[in-house]
Parts: sequence; structure tokens; C-alpha cells
Amino acid sequence: TQPEQPGIESLMNPRPVQPLNYKGSEKLKGRVALITGGDSGIGRAVAIAYAKEGANVAINYLNEQNDAEETKSLVEAEGVQCLLLPGDVSQEATCKQLVEKTVAEFGKLDILVNNAGVQFPTEKIEDITHEQWDKTFRTNIYSVFYMCKYAVPHLKQGSAIISTASINPYVGNPKLLDYTATKGAIVGFTRSLAQNLASKGIRVNMVAPGPIWTPLIPSTFDEKTVESFGLKTPLGRPGQPADHAGAYVLLASDEGAYITGQCIHVNGGMAMSSDGKK
Ligand code: NAD
Repeated sequence: TQPEQPGIESLMNPRPVQPLNYKGSEKLKGRVALITGGDSGIGRAVAIAYAKEGANVAINYLNEQNDAEETKSLVEAEGVQCLLLPGDVSQEATCKQLVEKTVAEFGKLDILVNNAGVQFPTEKIEDITHEQWDKTFRTNIYSVFYMCKYAVPHLKQGSAIISTASINPYVGNPKLLDYTATKGAIVGFTRSLAQNLASKGIRVNMVAPGPIWTPLIPSTFDEKTVESFGLKTPLGRPGQPADHAGAYVLLASDEGAYITGQCIHVNGGMAMSSDGKK
């Protein structure tokens, strides 16, 4: 049975965080993961899932100190260590520091999750300013390049890079032109970097979420869009952050040892739907 679609009030406030009914089995025991935008939504669910699998987790966050502290407690409740790292990943110097601080604290880095992202829905191309285009690109794709550039020298055979892409470059989105372009760039970059790093035994993959009920949605779409969000997917509901745990764990762990350059779609079947609309 499908969970009931939440009412508009709770859709506009995706809190409290959904419990993560995910049973860990030490697939990542002793590993170290660094997650950008790991304090909220999908990033937070991944942080908790990795903790449940035994990894120590460094969590980058932008400005929500409370969310970060709350996430840290949820991660530490799983019996692993958590390092909170504030910082804006659109800046190269910050990305370098995030990697350096993680390695200084835990002695290594095994898993990099490039998850931070922003979107600014805009009706017409004429309304997209240079500043908006620049911010979306700096946050969503420059950050992925910077994080990979500084992380790769620390990664060893068996390490994994996972970036959060989106369904949008696969189906297009008329109201998210800049955002969709950045996520499309992640697709090309991931497939290319996977080939570039394959001989070192470092795997590079991505997860493409569909309509997922996270704080990003009510903070960027109007109530009407939020209310119907995800209902047109074949599974008939928006996804939850917790729906991503399995995909990110598979791509980070030895269970995914022969998977590289690939994308796992977590979208309720949306890319298969005949109207393909949110
Ligand atoms: P969210 O708002 O809960 O999480 C986004 C995170 O990115 C937040 O922690 C935010 O602080 C962080 N962030 C934004 N700008 C940053 C910066 N400059 N430096 C550091 N951190 C920054 O939303 P979410 O839905 O969990 O988004 C996570 C990822 O999933 C994003 O890349 C988003 O594009 C992608 N995604 C989401 C959906 C969806 O429907 N929610 C669909 C497809 C892709």
C-alpha cells in the first residue's frame, strides 16, 4: 500500500524528518564519508544510512546550524563519529578545506557524496539573470568539480564518488532551465570521470532523484505545485529522503564494486511515465 499524500500544511513544512526505516549491516564499517549539504533532505538521509552501515561521516552544511546539530546527533546515535563542517561549496577554497579537514580528523577519505544543490524556478528565460545562472552553476556543478579535484588524491582502490543529479536532464524541465543544465553537466562529468579514474579502482556514479519531498520543494515552489508534487509518478506519491538510502549505500559499498559511470534513478517510475510531468 502507498503512504497517504500528506496535507498541504505538512507538505509546506517537511518536518519532523521522516524516520529512516533502514537496517544497516556494516557494509561501510570503518570507512569515512564526506557529504555536501548533508544536514537536510536527501543528504541527511544518506548520512544516517551511512552511519547505520558503520561509516564515520563528515557533514558539510551551509547555514542551518540547528539542522546540522540535529543530524549529527542522529548520526552519532548509530555509534559512529560525525564531524560538522560549515562552508559554501560554490567556493573552491571551501571545498579544498572540507576535504583537508575530513582527512585531518579521520585520517582518510573513502566516500565523497556531492549532494549540495539549489534551484530557482523561473517561467521565462528572459527572467533568468546572470547572477541566478552563475549561482546555480557555482553551487550545483562547480562544487562537484572542486570537491572531486581535492578529494581524488586521497581516494584509494575501492573508494567511491557519488553525485546527486536529477531526473530533469533526462526529461527536461521548462521552469528549471539553469538547474537542469547543471544537472546535465553532472551526468556528463560523472560518466567521464568514471572512465578517468577506473584504472585506480575509484568508482564514480550518480543518483537521480525524481520528485522528493524535502525542504527544497516548499522553499522554491508555490503551494499549488507543492500540493500536487509527485502525484503523477507511476507510484502516485512524492519520494522521501529515506527512499534514497539503498541507492547511495549500494554505490558506496563493495556490493556495487562493478558499477561505475552509472545513474540510479529514484523517481517512483517517473521517467517511464507517458506524460513525464511532475
Ligand atoms: P535540501 O534543501 O534539503 O538540501 C539541499 C542541501 O544543499 C541543503 O543542505 C543546503 O544547505 C545545501 N546547500 C545549498 N547551497 C549550498 C552551498 N552553496 N554550500 C553548501 N551547501 C549548500 O534539498 P534536497 O532535495 O535534499 O536536495 C539535495 C540534492 O538533491 C540537491 O542537489 C538537489 O538538486 C537534488 N534533487 C532534489 C530533488 C527533489 O525533488 N527534492 C530532485 C532532484 C534532485
